[in-house]
Amino acid sequence: MTATALLFRDDPYAQSCDATVLAVTPEGGVVLDRTVFYAQGGGQPGDAGALLGDSREVAVTNTVYGADRASIVHVPSNGAAPFQVGDQVTARLDWERRYARMRIHTALHLLSVVLPYPVTGGAIGDGEGRLDFDISDAGLDRSEITDKLNALVARDAPVRERWITDEELDANPGLVKTMAVKPPRGTGRVRLVEIEAIDLQPCGGTHVRRTGEIGPVRVTDIEKKGKQNRRVRIALD
Ligand SMILES: [Zn+2]
Repeated sequence: MTATALLFRDDPYAQSCDATVLAVTPEGGVVLDRTVFYAQGGGQPGDAGALLGDSREVAVTNTVYGADRASIVHVPSNGAAPFQVGDQVTARLDWERRYARMRIHTALHLLSVVLPYPVTGGAIGDGEGRLDFDISDAGLDRSEITDKLNALVARDAPVRERWITDEELDANPGLVKTMAVKPPRGTGRVRLVEIEAIDLQPCGGTHVRRTGEIGPVRVTDIEKKGKQNRRVRIALD
């Protein structure tokens, strides 16, 4: 199977693209030569949307990496897509859902700044998300964290990406906040996401261009998940 070009990485705002079917998996999943669909990973769910081609439209319910980790598989709703290798299609995102995830994802970066503790896990849902922190008890206060988050949102700081080599990352171990989720290695370079003057960390997900796009957020819950773990949930307001 050939690699899929990850258009969402260079332009997370691209809502659709034309593409060629490279393969159809035994389960009916469709592999394209390029896609705007984010594949499930790093706590962010795979995108949903549709594949359109030749007066046929197939709903995509999820997007995952193939076993080779280089191809991206679009999972059709009914388990079998009526496409063949070589077919031309248009891949169209469920943009509303993806954009909400971009806002929450970027807000979780801000949460890791407001609460500067080691992160052991995280997840992004629809309009909400969470991070797990490796702390026993830091006197976490819901409204105080909410206020600090919204202050960072209001700064409308630009969000940018840049790439560094594995060696540069090794020389700056402090860049890695997540203990459980190590940045992807092996390609010789690592993608860093920078929120100007606020945050810098390796991440392969999709983010908004400026923190102001996140809009108002609030902490909805702080759960005790074991002696040395606090789960903080946030939601778009
Ligand atoms: Zn990120």
